[in-house]
Amino acid sequence: MVRRLTGWLVAIAYAMAGARRRVVRMLRAGASLPVVVHAMPAWQLEKTLAWLKAKGVLDRLWLTFDDGWSQVKDYVPILEKYGVKAKLFIAPGETMRGNVWTHAAIMTGVPAPIWRSWYNLSEAERYRMLETVHETISASACTARSLLTKDEVISLSKHPLISIENHTWSHLSATHRPVDEVLDEIRRAQMELIIWTGRAPEYVAWPFGRGNKELDVRVKELGLTPVYTRQGYDAPCCRNMAIEGVSFQENLGRVLDAWPKVGETL
Ligand SMILES: [Zn+2]
Repeated sequence: MVRRLTGWLVAIAYAMAGARRRVVRMLRAGASLPVVVHAMPAWQLEKTLAWLKAKGVLDRLWLTFDDGWSQVKDYVPILEKYGVKAKLFIAPGETMRGNVWTHAAIMTGVPAPIWRSWYNLSEAERYRMLETVHETISASACTARSLLTKDEVISLSKHPLISIENHTWSHLSATHRPVDEVLDEIRRAQMELIIWTGRAPEYVAWPFGRGNKELDVRVKELGLTPVYTRQGYDAPCCRNMAIEGVSFQENLGRVLDAWPKVGETL
């Protein structure tokens, strides 16, 4: 038991050290590194940025924040302190509803296999299901996260270090839906975000990281760059239930393929 635990700790330490070495090497070589941050505590972001600054590679870094959770407001002073740029991927339909549908399902107490089966449904069908279960299942105590409001997104879009990018209209699972519907959602989100911010997004992050080569090609035809920012989730409140947001160190390792997956794959 002790031996297994020690082995596990050594493996983790090794993966982490390897990931960090690779991060530094990659950044020193002049590459830009998209680092995914969702709902992590601000102090953790600051700690890691301090480490990257000590390595002299901070200027090559940009961060991505999927969905636009309210914690992003706490990150702004840290971005300013370190001069780090961030892309904020927004699904405007969900912003206007005030939640991401999967998170709403989890908060309502819908079991994971059930809400995952809703990947196959359209936006309207998903929300019909949510309304149905809302009446039959009581809300759980998980209220850790809330989305930025439309006004907050607009206000953040004016910040010189932050750009607002496309995360589809309704945070749909693109690989589960017809391509035309996916492209419609991206165009619709694009138009809405231009109205909000006066700037056309340049990137699309696939919700749940669910994209594929065909979709990437179609997105490029729209003049946009597809990116993958899917994460596992390991917050104490909603362990293994939600979709995105895990430790910054893990994200670094995952981006560089040097960190073992934590939790289940969604
Ligand atoms: Zn997302």
